[in-house]
Amino acid sequence: MASLQPVRGTHDILPDEARRARHVIDTGRNLAARYGYDEAATPIFEFSDVFARTLGETSDIVTKEMYTFTDKGGDQITLRPEGTAGIARALISGGLSQNLPLKFFYAGPMFRYERPQKGRLRQFHQIGVELLGVAEPIGDIEVIALGAAILDELGVRGNTQLELNTLGNTQSRAAYRDVLVEYFSDRRGDLSEDSQQRLDRNPLRILDSKNEGDRAIVIGAPEFDDSLDAESSDFFAEVCAGLDALGVAWHRNSRLVRGLDYYCHTAFEFTTDALGAQSAVLAGGRYDGLVEQMGGPSTPGVGWASGIERLSMLIGDGPEKTRAVAVIPLGDAAEAVALKLTDELRRSGVSVDLGFRGKMKQRMKRANNINARAAVILGDDELEQNAATVRDLDSGEQELVPLTALRDRLEQFR
Ligand code: ATP
Ligand code: MG
Repeated sequence: MASLQPVRGTHDILPDEARRARHVIDTGRNLAARYGYDEAATPIFEFSDVFARTLGETSDIVTKEMYTFTDKGGDQITLRPEGTAGIARALISGGLSQNLPLKFFYAGPMFRYERPQKGRLRQFHQIGVELLGVAEPIGDIEVIALGAAILDELGVRGNTQLELNTLGNTQSRAAYRDVLVEYFSDRRGDLSEDSQQRLDRNPLRILDSKNEGDRAIVIGAPEFDDSLDAESSDFFAEVCAGLDALGVAWHRNSRLVRGLDYYCHTAFEFTTDALGAQSAVLAGGRYDGLVEQMGGPSTPGVGWASGIERLSMLIGDGPEKTRAVAVIPLGDAAEAVALKLTDELRRSGVSVDLGFRGKMKQRMKRANNINARAAVILGDDELEQNAATVRDLDSGEQELVPLTALRDRLEQFR
């Protein structure tokens, strides 16, 4: 074996982090359910075409970031880099478009071959929502409000800002594209190599470039607003008004474009400056053309995804771990009783850690290490009286409790 290190950009999610991630997922799932979004899960790998055809052949994801391989049957497979394409594929292959609108929540791993850094991994995890079959701005408003509600519930909203933009309808985007091509072509030589390619294939993407030189040029680029037609501006105005009515603060970022080809109208991102270079926490937009582009019936859609690792970093310690009760048997006879007692307590809902071995001192040390709330000590004296010594590990107080009353006595430590 070459190395026992995890593969670059992957890491083990140990209990403290797993607890924070679980809290993020549970919060997302619960709030999504309150908004009528039910959980769904698509496979972690799909035929490569599902992504290649929909994310755009010029997108960073498709050109640089996909984990693609040929499986033993000769099929081209890709580990999913994002969740929307799979949901759209499921809508088509499952014939779900009879039941629109559909509202989905999902959570799970995503894979992108990126340069790993803090908050940027090759296997990372997202929660996300998709609303399919709603063409009206109220759909955009609802999914953004749901994102805001989840950030609120996690206590991180104050660390974020909602940036909002419109990419207009197809005609407006085509018009803007022409204006941009003209502007950037005059400055072609000063653009980064990546952006020179974007200029030929998808000039809007230049607006999103992280290259310093590109950014200086982008500052002077024409504004999208001048190319928006009435339908596009009205749509955007309704989204803005809806967010205002809900008290969801936002600000306009007219340079915000999404990295993927299928977006139109609303684009948004909750960003933070608490995570260094990785500022995007929750991002999404409207993708009316996606399902049709994949070969399905024309179906509007809007949604977002949020990185669980980035959210977990923002929530800090997260919720406290449930504190167990430590059962500490001393001697063979006590061990037999403790085994049975522990099983009964666990079945009745108490979290119990059973000391497996060692003298009293070592077992108490273990109880302290796991931050147990109380210890239930069973020695010969206790056994004789059909009782256990219950010690409150915070106050140090202890008392003898009959085994029959133990369950009730432990209630107070919950
Ligand atoms: P970025 O600009 O940071 O590369 P993105 O535009 O590629 O983000 P999206 O495709 O919109 O990201 O994914 C939605 C969210 O998923 C991001 O806002 C971020 O929280 C998270 N995310 C994306 N890529 C990664 C990654 N490689 N590692 C960890 N989280 C990620
Ligand atoms: Mg990215």
